[in-house]
Amino acid sequence: MIEKGRFGQFGGFYVPEVLIPALEDIEAAFLHYKDDPKFVADLDNLYKNYAGRPTPLYYASRFSEYVGFRVYIKREDLLHGGAHKTNNTLGQGLLAKYMGKKKIIAETGAGQHGLATAMAGALFGLETKIFMGAVDVERQSVNVHKMKLCGAEVVPITAGSGTLKDAINDALRYWTSHVEDTFYIFGTVCGPHPFPTIVKHFQSPIGKEAHEQVLKETGSLPDMVVACVGGGSNAMGIFSGFIDDKDVKLIGVEPAGHGLDTGEHAATLVAGTIGIFHGAKSYLLQDKEGQVHETESISAGLDYPAVGPEHCMLKDAGRAEYVSVEDKDVLDTFHLFTKLEGIIPALESTHALTWLVQQKGKFSADTTIIANLSGRGDKDVGIVEEHSPV
Ligand SMILES: *Cc1c(COP(=O)(O)O)cnc(C)c1O
Repeated sequence: MIEKGRFGQFGGFYVPEVLIPALEDIEAAFLHYKDDPKFVADLDNLYKNYAGRPTPLYYASRFSEYVGFRVYIKREDLLHGGAHKTNNTLGQGLLAKYMGKKKIIAETGAGQHGLATAMAGALFGLETKIFMGAVDVERQSVNVHKMKLCGAEVVPITAGSGTLKDAINDALRYWTSHVEDTFYIFGTVCGPHPFPTIVKHFQSPIGKEAHEQVLKETGSLPDMVVACVGGGSNAMGIFSGFIDDKDVKLIGVEPAGHGLDTGEHAATLVAGTIGIFHGAKSYLLQDKEGQVHETESISAGLDYPAVGPEHCMLKDAGRAEYVSVEDKDVLDTFHLFTKLEGIIPALESTHALTWLVQQKGKFSADTTIIANLSGRGDKDVGIVEEHSPV
């Protein structure tokens, strides 16, 4: 069973016995419906008319002038819900509906995936439960309120540190006793097979569109594609459109948190070691005893101690490169980019932009780079104001 969903030595299917049939059902339904004309037409309609796909590819002229090379921005911040998460919850929500499920559950950290799931729950008329660490419920009260407005129940988790990894533990535990009528909508390209494959599939329009758009706009492929990496879904979405184009460099940017020198980082691929967590084998932030670390970054959406198995494989194969940037530089870039472009980026997405700022003057003026703007920063205005007031 653990041979399924392997990406090199990574990924797999390390779950309690009772979940195996549920995951196999989801895999079978996914394989059946992903090419089913009615399912595809339904999902395309939702992507287009509900969520606002295709999202634009925007040439950021003032930011480009600042860094000294050509930067195109893939505008997932304009997607309904304010981030790429909607692509995934529409896809998995529709799949749950087609499978005849009556209930959906999800985990959430910053509340973005919880909100995107609550929106899908309302849209598809599915009873929705969101598992969220009690600390995060406090920190993200606006998103909690929005989830409730959509009709979802928010379940605060006090176990452990009361954050994302504890919420996932409890969501998985709940699922083991409700597998019959409940679909677990996982939020990123992690977890047991088939989630990494499913989530990548539903995020792949980002890359497919960007590939077409950049060719149309510039007549050639970009030199590089850059995206932030938490669990890795927005990066996998945009990378998937360019992975076969060997000359296009793929760069994933992780949070270094307060700085690598203090040891308080959240850069899983840059600083992690291999282990098994939440049902899959990947790089992990853990100590010598295998105890998984709390991560600490200014952007709650990147605070996850594991990372998608396909990213682990791409790293080891040298196909993608992973780097990290520190909180203080992310804050500077947040201000810089907003002032130059009038677009407020999510702190998560700002990690990708920060790496570009650090390359200022290092590439020729005709170098073309696409950065995935995974979400908008409205949710982060308060945090930024606290740390670096205008
Ligand atoms: C959740 C989130 C992320 C991190 O998740 P990935 O699976 O790594 O994409 C990045 N950006 C935004 C705006 C998010 O909401």
